[in-house]
Amino acid sequence: MNKILEVKDLRTYFFTNTGTVKAVNGVSFFVCKGETFGIVGESGCGKSQTCRAILSLIKKPGKIVGGEILYKGQDIIKMSQDELRRIRGKEMSIIFQEPMTSLNPVLTIKKQMFEAFSQTNMTKQEKLQRSIELLRLVGIPSPENRINEYVHQFSGGMRQRAMIAVALCSQPELLIADEPTTALDVTIQDQIIKLLAKLKQELNMSIILVTHDLGVVAQMCDRVAVMYAGIIVELTDTTTLFSKPRHPYSYALMGSLPDQSKIGSDLEVISGSPPNLVDMPSGCPFAPRCKYAIDICLKKLPELVAIEKGHLTRCHRLEIVSKFPGIIADTTTKKSRGDIDA
Ligand code: SF4
Repeated sequence: MNKILEVKDLRTYFFTNTGTVKAVNGVSFFVCKGETFGIVGESGCGKSQTCRAILSLIKKPGKIVGGEILYKGQDIIKMSQDELRRIRGKEMSIIFQEPMTSLNPVLTIKKQMFEAFSQTNMTKQEKLQRSIELLRLVGIPSPENRINEYVHQFSGGMRQRAMIAVALCSQPELLIADEPTTALDVTIQDQIIKLLAKLKQELNMSIILVTHDLGVVAQMCDRVAVMYAGIIVELTDTTTLFSKPRHPYSYALMGSLPDQSKIGSDLEVISGSPPNLVDMPSGCPFAPRCKYAIDICLKKLPELVAIEKGHLTRCHRLEIVSKFPGIIADTTTKKSRGDIDA
């Protein structure tokens, strides 16, 4: 296994007037070359802050207070601003949910793509040729003309494609996609997901895909981490997560997915809401919503342990979760698309 990124015990806190928000509280995982690694969880579970930390994009009042982020063995947290600029310009890119937050409305797409090539020795002509190639690759029609347009002249789906093209200018080895389809309608979502899968194959990239859409995870990811209240509660390959979830939270998520076997019956709902990250309970953060909770769950945070090779879970009641019946989730069609916040 060729690990391109290794995150170890990452802690990112936000020091606010109302207290310390432990947004990411001891997260560890790795991503291999050419792999798509999913991070899934409800809004505010720490998945986006984990990604921002990887690119060293945490802003005040936030701070990385512990852990390591090893990119090809080098700790990003200890890098100088020059080294970070080089890594961000040449090795890693990020695409966001809302293209308008990362694309500049007063610059043409061409100008923005040329800026993204700034770390290369390419001539103007080479930059133009590559920019047009990338716009064509992501499915922008008439790229020779549209490259001279501004982002507001593009539709929602085309903006997303343009943002992906800009992110690919540096030929990143690692692409971080932070909720890349959330703001789009279902048809365009599907097109963007298929586009990312195609680009991954063609460019041999690794992808970290952050989403709260389990259908997107099923379509795209090789392995996946389920986050809850700033920690990983389960980490395994995608097939296992969908068929044999071994944490009560993941199990409830899978139970809330529609599929043909549940037609006519009520879907499971996870009652309650995630804990306040300023005032975290001392035990398992899922305890107030967990129907299997016992006394120890309220007092002690369970360790993340391997129950099978490559399958980690964090629960005091392994004897119960190991007996959860298998779930046959139809993960290949849009019928299974489930939104965690829904
Ligand atoms: Fe539920 Fe306890 Fe397991 Fe937490 S540790 S998920 S509360 S059974």
